[in-house]
Amino acid sequence: MNDRRIQSLVIVGGGTAGWMAAARLAQHFRGTPLKITLVESSEIGTIGVGEATIPTIRSFYGALGLSDAEVMRATQATAKLGIRFTDWSRPGRSFIHPFGLFGHELNGIEFQHWWLRARSLGAAAELGEYSLGASLAAAGRFNLPPRNPPSPLAVFDWALHFDAGLFAQLMRRHAETLGVRRIDAKVRQVKLRPENGFIEGVELDSGETVTGELFIDCSGFRGLLIEEALGAGYEDWSQWLFCDRALAVQSESAGDPAPFTEVTAQPAGWRWKIPLQHRDGNGHVFSSRHMDEPTALRLLTGAVQGRLLHEPRAIRFHPGRRKLAWSRNCVALGLASGFLEPLESTSIALIETGIEKLRQLFPDRSMDPALRDEFNDWSRREMERTRDFIILHYKLNGRTDSDFWREAREMDVPDSLQHKIDLWRARGHFVRYRWEMFQPASWLAIYAGFECLPQVWDPGVDAVEPNSLRARLADMRQAIARAVASAPPHTQFLQQTARAE
Ligand code: FAD
Repeated sequence: MNDRRIQSLVIVGGGTAGWMAAARLAQHFRGTPLKITLVESSEIGTIGVGEATIPTIRSFYGALGLSDAEVMRATQATAKLGIRFTDWSRPGRSFIHPFGLFGHELNGIEFQHWWLRARSLGAAAELGEYSLGASLAAAGRFNLPPRNPPSPLAVFDWALHFDAGLFAQLMRRHAETLGVRRIDAKVRQVKLRPENGFIEGVELDSGETVTGELFIDCSGFRGLLIEEALGAGYEDWSQWLFCDRALAVQSESAGDPAPFTEVTAQPAGWRWKIPLQHRDGNGHVFSSRHMDEPTALRLLTGAVQGRLLHEPRAIRFHPGRRKLAWSRNCVALGLASGFLEPLESTSIALIETGIEKLRQLFPDRSMDPALRDEFNDWSRREMERTRDFIILHYKLNGRTDSDFWREAREMDVPDSLQHKIDLWRARGHFVRYRWEMFQPASWLAIYAGFECLPQVWDPGVDAVEPNSLRARLADMRQAIARAVASAPPHTQFLQQTARAE
C-alpha cells in the first residue's frame, strides 16, 4: 500500500503562533515520518504583544508536558484570575470578569435566576461577591483551585500573564528538542504548482527554496501565504469593532502585580495594563476614526505608572477574519487567520483551538476537501461567536462622553448576537454552543457588569420565600468570603512558584 502520509510540513513565521504550532505538532507526530521546518525572519521580528491569556493555555502547555511552575518561571508570568473593567458601563463603575462560576444552582434552577429575583427584593450583593475567582482577584489573593472542589462555590480557573517573547522562546526550545528545523531567513517568494495552485515551496532571500506538502501560515497580519499567495479573502468586521490601532509600551512594575488584567475605558477605546513579574505591559487600543495617534499616545503615557522602558510602538490592525483559514495546502493560524481586537485575550486561545483542529483533521497527500471544509466551518463559527462576545462589551455601554461610545451603543449588532441579547432580556436565558470560547458565566459577568439586567426570571424562584432566598444567598457569599480570607496574597504564590521544583 502506498504511504499517503504527509512527510514535510513547513511553518512560515516564528511568533507565538508559529512556535506553538511547531511545538504541539512535533509532540503529536513524534515517531512518525513527518518532518517540520519553521522559517522565521529575526530581521522582521514578531508583533511582541499578546501577553494575557485565558485558562485553556494551561491545558495547551500541559499537553506538552510543561507544568504551571515551569512556564511561570520561564516567562516571568503572574496569575490571571480575570479582567477588571473600569469605566466601561459608565465612569466610576468597575467590575471583574472572572474565569469561573457565580454561586450555584438551587432546586435545579441556575444561579442567575435566584440572583435576579433577590436583587429585585434588595436582597442581593454585587454579582462578583458570589464568585470565588472575582473575590480573590478583588482582594489581590491567589490560591491554586482545589483538585476536588468541596462545593461548586470553590470552583474557579486561572490563566497567565506572560512575557510573549519568553513564551515563544520556550515553545521554540520544546519544538527544537523534538526535531523541528529552524531557518532564519526572509521568504522572498511563494511558489505555486501550475497544475493546481497548491504551494510548492517558499523561496528564501538566501536563495534556498524550502518545499513542503503542507504549509502553515503564521506570518502575522499580512498572511504571506494564505492571502498574498493564495488570495483567501478577508471578511471585514469594522462596522461592529471600531478599534483598529494600538499603542503598546512596557514599563517598570508599579507596585505588586495584581492577579488580573486591568482594562480601562477611554474616550475612543480602552487601555490595558498586564502585570508581569519583571515589568508591566501597557497599551491603548483605539479607533482611528474617533481619535488621532498623538492624543491616544498622550492618554497612554499619562496613565502608565512605572518608568517607560522604550518608546511606545504603534500597531495597526483590521478587525475581521480570513474567509478561508484553510485554502489548498495551506492553513493559517494566529494573526494570519484574522484578528478581532485585544479585548478578552482571545487571539492566543484561537491559536490553541486552531492547532487542535488541525491536529484532529490533519490531512494526508490526497488533501480530502472534507477536512478543509470542516476546518473552515469550525473556524468561522468559533470566530463569529467570539466576535459576538466582544461586540457585547461595546453595545451595552452606557457612556455619554463621546461619539465612539454613542455610536457603539446605537449600532445594529449581528443577528446571532441580537438573538442572545433578546433571550437574556426576555428570560435571563443563555444560549449554549459546544464550541464556544465564552460560556454562560462569562456572559453573565458582562451583562451584570454593564447593568443590563432583565426584570424577569425563572418563575420557579418565586416559590421560595424571600427570607429564605436572602439566607441562601448570604450563605454563598459568606462561604466565598471565608475562602478568600484564608488565601495568601498573590505575591506569596509567585514567590512559592519561583522556588518550586
Ligand atoms: P507575529 O508575532 O506577527 O509573527 C509573525 C512571524 O512571521 C514572525 O516570526 C515574522 O518574522 C514572520 N514573518 C513575517 N514575514 C516573513 C517573511 N517574509 N519571511 C519570514 N518570516 C516572516 N492575544 C492574546 O491572546 N492576548 C492578548 O493580550 C493580546 N494582546 C494583543 C494586543 C495587540 C495590540 C495586538 C495587535 C494583538 C494582541 N494579541 C493578543 C494577539 C497576539 O499578539 C497574537 O495572537 C500572537 O502574538 C500571535 O502572533 P503571530 O505569531 O500570529 O504573528
